[in-house]
Amino acid sequence: MTTSPPKAPDVVIAGGGVIGCATAYFLAAEHGLRVVVIERDGIASGASGGAAGELGAGGRHHFSEAYTRFLMRGIELHRELGPALREESGVDYLLGEIPLLRPAFDEAEADALREQMRWQREIGIEMEWLDAEAVRGLGTWLAPEAVGATATAELQLEAYPFALAVAQAAEHHGVEIRSGEVTGVLRDGDRAVGVRVGGEELAAGAVVIATGPWAVHAGAWMGIEVPVSPLRGQIVHLAPPEGTPMPSYGISHETAYVRPKAGGDLLAGTTQELAGFDRQPTAEAQDGIMEAVVRLAPALIDAPIRDLTACLRPSTPDGLPIIGAVDGWRDLYLSTGHQFKGVTLALVSGRSLAQLMTGETPDVALDDYSLARFAGAA
Ligand SMILES: Cc1cc2nc3c(=O)[nH]c(=O)nc-3n(C[C@H](O)[C@H](O)[C@H](O)COP(=O)(O)OP(=O)(O)OC[C@H]3O[C@@H](n4cnc5c(N)ncnc54)[C@H](O)[C@@H]3O)c2cc1C
Repeated sequence: MTTSPPKAPDVVIAGGGVIGCATAYFLAAEHGLRVVVIERDGIASGASGGAAGELGAGGRHHFSEAYTRFLMRGIELHRELGPALREESGVDYLLGEIPLLRPAFDEAEADALREQMRWQREIGIEMEWLDAEAVRGLGTWLAPEAVGATATAELQLEAYPFALAVAQAAEHHGVEIRSGEVTGVLRDGDRAVGVRVGGEELAAGAVVIATGPWAVHAGAWMGIEVPVSPLRGQIVHLAPPEGTPMPSYGISHETAYVRPKAGGDLLAGTTQELAGFDRQPTAEAQDGIMEAVVRLAPALIDAPIRDLTACLRPSTPDGLPIIGAVDGWRDLYLSTGHQFKGVTLALVSGRSLAQLMTGETPDVALDDYSLARFAGAA
C-alpha cells in the first residue's frame, strides 16, 4: 500500500455490508490505519442484514477441503473476537450455539451424509450420526420419516445486529462511516488514488470495493470484468405454533432449513433465484419454502407467519469469494462473492485482506480467491 496524501484516509472502502465493515475494522484495529467506509443506503441494508445468521462449515454445499478450512477459521474467529466486538460496540448480537440436525429420508441419503461426515470429521468438524430412534428421542419437531441424521453443534447469531456491531466496533477504532454512492475509482497511472462519490472526489491511499453483488458494476470503473452476480434468497419469519415451545435444534435438508433464533423468530428458508437486482419478496417463494419446511417439521403447518424477507447473495461462477488485489492496478482491492457464507467468513476475510494490504502474511492464504483465477474464462 502507498502512503496516503496528507489528511486523506489511508483506505476508502466502498460498501457498508459486513465484508466492507469487517475489513475496515481490522485495518483500523490491528494496523492503525485511517479508514473511511462509504455506504449508499444503510449499514447492512443488503444481504448482510437479512441473512439467517448461521455460522456453518459443513452441510449440503459439498465445499472443498480448503474452503471448508477457511470457513472453520472464520467460525473460530467469531468465537475468539465475539467478546471484544460486543464490548467495543455495545451491541449484543446473540452469538450462541445451536444443535443442528441434517436428516436423511432414505438409505441413499443416509449413506451420502455418513460419507460427508467421515471426511468432515477428519478435518476437525465435530459431528455424530443419530439413528432413527435417537432422532425421535429429541422430540417431535423433525418429521417421523427421517431414517437418521447427522448432528453438530453450530454457532449462530442475529445477522443485522452483528453487522451493526462490526460497524460500531470499527468506529470505536476511528473508522468513519459516510453516506454516499461510489461511482468511480480515481486513477493516477497504475495506482488507485481514491474514489468518486456523487460529484465529489475523495483521495485515499488505497481503495477496497466491497459492494456485494453490485461489485459487478465496479468492473466498468476499473476496466475489468468482475464475475459476480445477485442470487436472491428469501426467508419466512415464523412464530412457533400456539402452545408449542420453540424447537431446541435447527434442521437443514437440501435448500430447506428451520432455525430457532435466540431473538425469538423461527426462520424458514430459503430460495436460490436468478432475479437480477430485484429484492422484492414473492408469494411463490413463501409457498415453496413453507411446503419444503413442513415436510421437514410438520408442526410448522400451524406456525403463524410474521414476515417474509428477500436479499441478494453476491455469487461467483465457482461459488468462491473474490478477495485480493486487482491485477494491473496498485492499491486497488476487491472483496465480494462470499455468496452463502459472508457472515461466517466476514471476520476471517476482513482480517486476511487487511493483512495482505499491509504486507503481512494473511491468516488464511488468499490465492484460491484471487480475481485472476477467472482470467481467460469465457
Ligand atoms: C437469504 C440469505 C440468507 C443468508 N444466510 C447466511 C447465513 O446464515 N450465514 C452466512 O454466513 N451467510 C449467509 N448469507 C450470505 C451473506 O448474507 C452474504 O454473503 C453477505 O452478507 C455478503 O456481504 P457483503 O458485505 O459482501 O454484501 P452486502 O451485504 O450486499 O453489502 C454490500 C453493500 O454495498 C452497498 N453498495 C452497493 N453499491 C454501492 C456503491 N456504489 N456505493 C456505496 N455503497 C454501495 C450496498 O448498499 C450494501 O450495503 C445469506 C444470504 C441470503 C440472501
